[in-house]
Amino acid sequence: MTVKIISSIGPASGDIEILRKMVQAGVNGFRINFVHGSPDEWSRYVSYVRKIEDECGKPIALIGDLQGPSLRIGILDKPIELKRGETVKIVLADRAEGGDKRVIPVPQPKFFEAVDVGDVLVLDDGRVRLNVVDIHGSNELEAVALTRAVVKSRKAIVIAGKDLDIPALSEKDIKDVKFAIEQDFDYISLSYVRHAEDIEILRSLLKRYGAEDIGIIAKIETRSAIANLKDIVAASDAVLIARGDLGMNFSLEEVHYYQKIIIDTCIELGKPVIVATQLLESMIENPVPTRAEVVDISNAVEHGVDALMLTGETSIGKYPLEAVKWLRRIVSYAERRLLVKQYDYIAKRARKALNDIQTAFAKGVLELAEDIGAKLIVFSMRGVTALRLARLRPRIPVYVATPNRKVMRKLSIVWGLETFYVDATNYDEGLSKALEKAKELGVVSYGDVTVLTYGLREPRQYIEVLKLEPQ
Ligand code: PGA
Ligand code: MN
Repeated sequence: MTVKIISSIGPASGDIEILRKMVQAGVNGFRINFVHGSPDEWSRYVSYVRKIEDECGKPIALIGDLQGPSLRIGILDKPIELKRGETVKIVLADRAEGGDKRVIPVPQPKFFEAVDVGDVLVLDDGRVRLNVVDIHGSNELEAVALTRAVVKSRKAIVIAGKDLDIPALSEKDIKDVKFAIEQDFDYISLSYVRHAEDIEILRSLLKRYGAEDIGIIAKIETRSAIANLKDIVAASDAVLIARGDLGMNFSLEEVHYYQKIIIDTCIELGKPVIVATQLLESMIENPVPTRAEVVDISNAVEHGVDALMLTGETSIGKYPLEAVKWLRRIVSYAERRLLVKQYDYIAKRARKALNDIQTAFAKGVLELAEDIGAKLIVFSMRGVTALRLARLRPRIPVYVATPNRKVMRKLSIVWGLETFYVDATNYDEGLSKALEKAKELGVVSYGDVTVLTYGLREPRQYIEVLKLEPQ
């Protein structure tokens, strides 16, 4: 499979049987959102995923998702139902009596500093919009509902058009990072990134804890992130287009445009890119997707994304397994019928910037393998070589052998890479074991031409072309 699938785990899927079936149906990575649930639940999910990984022998990436500088309302004892034109009070607090009292708690003083009369507050993926009509002091305001709305606990809230000046990582985020390190997560994604420094802060924290091998995924969902896109992409290991909040911080009609800009930027800068949220939103309630959802997913595949990520569909939806199965079906079909026609276009952009010798070498190796119809096998210790090939958007599957489990897992959500484990301590041993393993797995067989490569970095670049003979 060229395009990979990631699913969010939540109450709807936090069961080993369901997760196992989701993996069998094609999931390559799971996200655990640290905004919801508790460390006990998360570690249970982690143990299920690692058990399933052992059983099926297929690497699975684990992504821990930090709340970052995003803002959520506090806790309501019951939902507030609003008719259009009705007034609510918003107060600085962690919790408030909801329902008839019509008070929404917001636990962040910076929110009250940033807000002005006339601002529009957007909640719950855009389902709720409130107009600020009055401000009382520094911790209370009044707003009027612009539509009929139901406000529920812990929903995200944004001031349309404004990003808040709050620290990239809260104390809770730092605790969650420690948890992710202890539990051997492969990636950490950061919500509400605004500039490259937000990524640098997370990176230095990981360094401080000796966990720099955890990849950082920047979630693009704020206006500032769009303004600073190139720097953020360059500073991150991968990028996630978080369409839920993106559609709250921008107008909905702008979402597709920015999705394309982000994908193009990632392909040009050679960073893996993931599209997320509302891919199969209707499947939260129904076992079959809508036509529009099928077309949206197919478009993302055609544009050259590395992976697609399910959010609510698999965390709280009624049909988590069906959602994965549908996503796999749609993606596989789109790869065969649509993506193949786009290869030239995508590869041209991806192979444009060859500003270092290693990339030029990778391109030469890849194009040789493509041109002679060979199987490409690479031995990669740190995953750098494999990533360098993947970012050139290969038309052929690239088989990656590595002695590093974390590298294997990290690469499992990247375009066009198939990874397997080999036990080796140097490159020559690695490459010969990689070939043996590839034969064993049936990836290559008699009559195949294989291109073997490793270490596309100085001082040594290696390539070997081999026609497999009968043994
Ligand atoms: P979230 O991220 O579920 O953490 O909000 C996804 C999105 O915003 O689309
Ligand atoms: Mn979000």
